[in-house]
Amino acid sequence: MGKIVKNPTIGILGGGQLGRMLSVAASRLGYDCHIFDPNKNSPASKISTFYTQANFDDFDALTSFAKSVDIVTYEFENIPTTALDAIEKYVKICPNRDALFTSQDRMIEKQFLTNLGLKTAPFANVENKQDLNDAIAKIGTPSILKTRRLGYDGKGQARINSDTDLATILDQFNEQPCILEGFINFNMEISIIGARDKNGSVSCYDPGENYHENGILKTTTVPAKITQQMMTDAVLLTGKIMNKLDYVGVIGVELFVSKNGLIVNEIAPRVHNSGHWTQNGCIVDQFEQHIRAITGLQLGDGTRHSDVKMTNILGADITKLDNFINNGKSALHLYGKETIKSGRKMGHINEIY
Ligand code: AMP
Repeated sequence: MGKIVKNPTIGILGGGQLGRMLSVAASRLGYDCHIFDPNKNSPASKISTFYTQANFDDFDALTSFAKSVDIVTYEFENIPTTALDAIEKYVKICPNRDALFTSQDRMIEKQFLTNLGLKTAPFANVENKQDLNDAIAKIGTPSILKTRRLGYDGKGQARINSDTDLATILDQFNEQPCILEGFINFNMEISIIGARDKNGSVSCYDPGENYHENGILKTTTVPAKITQQMMTDAVLLTGKIMNKLDYVGVIGVELFVSKNGLIVNEIAPRVHNSGHWTQNGCIVDQFEQHIRAITGLQLGDGTRHSDVKMTNILGADITKLDNFINNGKSALHLYGKETIKSGRKMGHINEIY
């Protein structure tokens, strides 16, 4: 009889579409996945080997989860610190806590980036009305007020113009600490997906050009129409960020292309929606690359072999799939979500052009 070997099991915090696609990549590499998510029917619940449905404050569930896996990774950055502490008693979390700590708070993130010598929008901390007045005196208008934590897809943000009523604007933020950012007049939004392995080798995918609708990513097109020099700048700054964080895994870096060069908007310590094009544009996509990095395998070849336009299928667009798949050179990726909500990411399509 053959020898039985236990497959290493990868724990993933979060069972959304990113967790689902990470699980698919992991299973292709022979690993099992154990997903931890508060929802019963999350997209990843349907395809992962093991599943824990529990809240992030259920410490018994977190402990059993941590004991059952060989490494833990995550598909979103807003995991409570207490949950991470509970897990880390038993198993390593990868990418590391520094990366999470830095990206969970826009203020800490901006300070980290400027300390690295990278350009960001001008920013100031805002915790009360006096701070807001001081911040506007310093940065001016137009500007954007954002919650420091827990914002995504443009949520938790308000544009401030010269005629905005400052007396009431903070009320909508429920006294959460905020950051005021100067408005960047960008020519284009791009993002770059990078990967770093445990030995410090780095590989970056070609930057993609992002188009948002109502604060939600609609399309990513590669290659982005930027100069070769800017592409190199994007790669270098991503490498710098990853080295400083001693990062292992895949990272998404969102950038504004402005007349003053590249300005970093934010970093996401995980696989990223704007990297979905890699599934059909590269031999090794961002999901496999992430699993390779965190399990100590060598990084794969992320060279772009095709030009790709990725389009998110949002909300009720899922009922009109014919509109998306009329081009033969396109691959459909659906997430198995059971309820349609306006703006909800239901799937995406990668079209080779
Ligand atoms: P964020 O949640 O920070 O990624 O912001 C969502 C979107 O708002 C970005 O993709 C930009 O289109 C826009 N945005 C955010 N910050 C700024 C800024 N400082 N200047 C101009 N536009 C911004």
